[in-house]
Amino acid sequence: MRVVMKFGGTSVGNGDRILNVARLVYGYATQGHAIVVASSAMSGVTDTLIKSARRAAEGDANTFVTAHDSLTQQHFAVLERAVSDESMRAILSQQIQERLAEFANLCRSIHILGELTPRALDMVGSLGERLLVPILAQALRENGAQAQAIESTELVVTDDNFTQASPLMDATRQKSRALLMPILQAGGIPVVTGFIGATRQGIITTLGRGGSDYTGTILGNAIDADEVWIWTDVNGVMTADPRIVPNAQTIPEISYGEAAELSYFGAKVIHPKTISPAAERDIPIRILNTFEPTHPGTRIVRAPKTNGHTAKAITAIRGLGLVTVEGRGMQGVPGVAGRVFATVAREGISVLMISQSSSEQNICFIIEANAVERALSALDHEFELDRMRGNIDRVWAQEHIVIVAIVGAGMKGTPGIAANVFGALGDKNLNVISIAQGSSEFNLSLVVDEHDANGAMRAIHDRFNL
Ligand code: ADP
Ligand code: ASP
Ligand code: MG
Repeated sequence: MRVVMKFGGTSVGNGDRILNVARLVYGYATQGHAIVVASSAMSGVTDTLIKSARRAAEGDANTFVTAHDSLTQQHFAVLERAVSDESMRAILSQQIQERLAEFANLCRSIHILGELTPRALDMVGSLGERLLVPILAQALRENGAQAQAIESTELVVTDDNFTQASPLMDATRQKSRALLMPILQAGGIPVVTGFIGATRQGIITTLGRGGSDYTGTILGNAIDADEVWIWTDVNGVMTADPRIVPNAQTIPEISYGEAAELSYFGAKVIHPKTISPAAERDIPIRILNTFEPTHPGTRIVRAPKTNGHTAKAITAIRGLGLVTVEGRGMQGVPGVAGRVFATVAREGISVLMISQSSSEQNICFIIEANAVERALSALDHEFELDRMRGNIDRVWAQEHIVIVAIVGAGMKGTPGIAANVFGALGDKNLNVISIAQGSSEFNLSLVVDEHDANGAMRAIHDRFNL
């Protein structure tokens, strides 16, 4: 079988974990699988890199210096543990120092300019994967595999939407096949940096935070893999985030559509864009746990076996705000909704959920909390005249909002789901601010206050017996 295996941050979080991954991959290789490895940076590294660059732009000349030292120590420690060959250690330690010198130089320039462009942010943010992959490849070689480190800038061609780049699949396919297939045919294991791509001109881009999952399926699509395995720190896709709902269970099989919906509604276990390259070619995705590699995890496929549950999982998107435009005079004034959303769109703010009461006295919508200020001032400006005329009474926002989503195919056609949800929350005295059904067939979304979110997730999880 030809398999792309993606390893996440905690799975490569220290020297021992890296040795564990090396043995795991080699074990599968000896069973005759052709494997491409895609790895994320060690957990926390990308955060540190990005935070340093942001602080540098704000005038802080210390954070990146401290980060440089701690990242050096961290990667040296990993090298010490995961690589035994003395001469390779020397080469790799030289490489680590060069990459981290590049990091410090970039941050110094950002500090001098006082500005951080998305393009510069990608140059800095991509260093975590570039630091780790050569070490992982060497650990694999020392465990018996013919591994070869490869920068995904040589494989994944993207547009220039820095920090959120999209792959250009024809070019990616061509490059990936040209480079990866001969290695696989010779029995080798390419070890690729996740998260990163490059424009046609060769400028480094990233696919969005958490994007190495996406690298996994992009490569899987490009080389026509039989399966893509996403190795993480939990036993697959679960009925809820186990950190919040301790009795969450693994979902053995789930459809592409449901998995995509879950990830769009906050299930961090898969990056939201991960599903589409696999679904396009009907490639099954498996979510597996490096801490418990014999657990079967979750299979994400086109037509899963049903498990009898209409609702399958509960997720949450946090850090949101609810904006309300209200006024008794709004009733019957044409075009208010159009103007509200045109105004928000002009600000480049995306709207996650909308509701309008039938009396037309208000329009509410949900956006990310960090866009609330901007939305309010743009709307104040847009509706200045209407306020003077008394058509609009006020534009205001409620912060600390969470969308809780219940996901499962076929929920829309099943009566009583909403009643059940309200019952479960009512019993626990949890207040629902708003509800929406029909953003797709797959989910029912509730708007709740941040304080009620975890309780709501647990109450619904219990009520639906997930
Ligand atoms: P990785 O570093 O391997 O990419 P992430 O931290 O990005 O791992 O994603 C795994 C985490 O996703 C889990 O540790 C878990 O807390 C969280 N998570 C959120 N929702 C779910 C869910 N429905 N099922 C499983 N894990 C979830
Ligand atoms: N290292 C990257 C990040 O932290 C990509 C990933 O983890 O998938 O966003
Ligand atoms: Mg992740």
